[in-house]
Amino acid sequence: MTGGGGFIGSHLVDALISQGRKVRVVDNFTVGHPRNLKQHDRNPNLQVVAADVADPKAMEEAIKDVERVFHLAALADIVPSIQNPEAYFRSNVDGTFVTLQAARAAGVKRFVYVASSSCYGIPDSYPTPEDAEIRPQYPYALTKRLGEQLVLHWAQVYKMPAISLRFFNIYGPRARTSGTYGAVFGVFLAQLLAGKPLTVVGDGTQRRDFTYVSDAVGALLTAASSQIFGRCYNIGSDQPVSINRLTELLEAPEIVYIPKRPGEPDCTWADTQRIKTELGWSAKVPIEDGVHHMLGNIEYWRDAPVWNPDSIAEATRDWFKYLSDE
Ligand code: UDP
Repeated sequence: MTGGGGFIGSHLVDALISQGRKVRVVDNFTVGHPRNLKQHDRNPNLQVVAADVADPKAMEEAIKDVERVFHLAALADIVPSIQNPEAYFRSNVDGTFVTLQAARAAGVKRFVYVASSSCYGIPDSYPTPEDAEIRPQYPYALTKRLGEQLVLHWAQVYKMPAISLRFFNIYGPRARTSGTYGAVFGVFLAQLLAGKPLTVVGDGTQRRDFTYVSDAVGALLTAASSQIFGRCYNIGSDQPVSINRLTELLEAPEIVYIPKRPGEPDCTWADTQRIKTELGWSAKVPIEDGVHHMLGNIEYWRDAPVWNPDSIAEATRDWFKYLSDE
């Protein structure tokens, strides 16, 4: 598995290890963190290789004797992808190419790629099906989409048993807290812990298809054991929730409103009919339960950066600069 030291990857490691499987993680620990895997210290079934997915030699070595590859490693924040597209291209596109080639050389039984719902940009229809138009709004979304195209092309040309899952707003314990301004749960939980107001974007009526990480892991395992290949699937809860509702569930004592960001959709909502029909997967965890688990693990965010409207304005300056229409 690539990216096993990251948020979703580490939960997938937990699930595979609890099934008694042998897991080899490749991670360069720029996004991921060793502490996400510390629960498996000294477990002989887990091997961790510190390497970059864009390094062909390292990947050939890491994959040569594995049956299934889960390719989760990626750079994932929006603003840095605008500021430094080269690093994103290298990790997310070159890294996928190199991982695919290594997997092909090894003759793996299964290759599961994690793609992003950001490929839909601002879609025309909700819920959004897989055949909606592809409209990446920033380099992160584009590079994840290019990676997906590689994966599906390898399935087409080389009959690689590969599949792509388009994840919608995955959240859960250990959700990333890198130094950069990122996904909303980490931002809000750190603010809650610090007793600071939650920074709600726009008027908070925008909705997101928040999907609990155990459901995402279930989808990855389902994809890994299916025979279908060359397909992409939406992975979402199919239950979009507004940011205002989220702040209620978090029982936020105080809220402050910050400007809406250009290019961001008012709603993300996965049409999950395809995966229900073809693979028999659907999400199980309602937002209330997911948020409850997050609050139970809130100490994880104790040392996370606490954002405020000024620091967010500063951190997102390039977002507004490049993506605004004016
Ligand atoms: N959001 C917010 N305050 C923040 C960060 C995000 O209200 O400080 C909102 C944002 O407008 C979006 C949702 O939370 O509607 C999810 O944002 P995130 O960046 O996690 O994911 P994405 O916008 O890429 O779906």
